[in-house]
Amino acid sequence: MFRASILTLYPDMFPGPLGQSLSGDALSRALWSLEIKNIRDHGLGRHRAVDDTPAGGGAGMVLRADVLAAALDEIAKPDDPRPRLLMSPRGRPLTQARVRDLSQGPGVILICGRFEGVDERVIEHRQLEEVSIGDYILSGGEIASMVLIDACVRLLPGVMGASQSGQEESFENGLLEYPHYTRPREWEGLSIPPVLLSGDHAKIDRWRHEESMKLTRARRPDLLGQD
Ligand code: SAH
Repeated sequence: MFRASILTLYPDMFPGPLGQSLSGDALSRALWSLEIKNIRDHGLGRHRAVDDTPAGGGAGMVLRADVLAAALDEIAKPDDPRPRLLMSPRGRPLTQARVRDLSQGPGVILICGRFEGVDERVIEHRQLEEVSIGDYILSGGEIASMVLIDACVRLLPGVMGASQSGQEESFENGLLEYPHYTRPREWEGLSIPPVLLSGDHAKIDRWRHEESMKLTRARRPDLLGQD
């Protein structure tokens, strides 16, 4: 089973959206599991402090290496085969290929940063891999970790049912997906492209591929190696 463990200072944020819809149904069917660890359980002193001022000065606070490592060591035993991922805007951007790869493995251990980030030494000494969900700054890693888990869980066997395991989706073949239409046949004077009503599946496949190419060329030429 795909096991997700999350280290966070905001355990009440979970399961949040992961408890609803596709991922929530799959969670209650035990197709995956979710463990939440409050980093503050390992906080120091009467106030359970988890952060301190940055060495060298500057704004904000930094998550302490000793506190974070203690929380991590409780969750991730040395023989745990799961990758330890630190949600971080400095990380390698998450892709559908990586998501597919992770979804075929034993699960993930995710660390949610807060404040300015975490002490660099814990990244090095606990072999954390930094993963980004995009080139913008969130206030914490919780939403980023939900994004990663949501993307993985929908690919787990049995979660998506008959819908072809997302084989035709955007990015799966290196292209953006073609446009979709459904009833009514006419809406505000607009009709559905006739080819989709022709019943000719070879022709429909061809049309969809062409539309995918057009969209990708216009919006994401980088996917075609043409930017
Ligand atoms: N000072 C840091 C940003 C800290 S944001 C920097 O400039 O790199 C606080 C936390 O939010 C981070 O530790 C990380 O866990 C999370 N976070 C913010 N943006 C993110 C992103 N794009 N992808 C993944 N995690 C992110």
